[in-house]
Amino acid sequence: MTAYDDQNIFAKILRDEIPSMRVYEDADTVCFMDIMPRTDGHCLVIPKTPCRNVLDASDAQLAAVMRTVKKVANAAKAAFDADGITLQQFNETAGGQEVFHLHFHIHPRHAGVAMRPAGTMGDMDAIQDHADRIKAAL
Ligand code: AMP
Repeated sequence: MTAYDDQNIFAKILRDEIPSMRVYEDADTVCFMDIMPRTDGHCLVIPKTPCRNVLDASDAQLAAVMRTVKKVANAAKAAFDADGITLQQFNETAGGQEVFHLHFHIHPRHAGVAMRPAGTMGDMDAIQDHADRIKAAL
């Protein structure tokens, strides 16, 4: 497996070299908003320590990330009065991964409402409002 590259975007976010809209942080994990949101409230949970994806993550990294996924997923469901939550997680290029630091996507979902296509930059004011709503529900 390819080695972890500490110049990936999420490593830079962890080092505060580029900005992010954080909604949650603990000793082992960070959750911040996706800047190309496919749903209102689309956010990402990452470990603070390096690994590319599920395939090279330690059991401790996965456990910490999943604890935060559960916590934020419940807050996002409440914040958006959602009917459900979709989690997405991609491994390596062939698996759809674009940023090579382990992350889980959290998407609040409403019955009958499709996710938007990937790759369109969101409105930063709207994303900040969504971040504030999730934070208030945590
Ligand atoms: P993937 O690796 O396929 O799970 O996709 C990476 C995700 O990271 C995409 O949903 C992007 O919109 C998101 N993304 C890329 N750059 C940033 C950034 N600077 N801040 C927040 N999210 C980002």
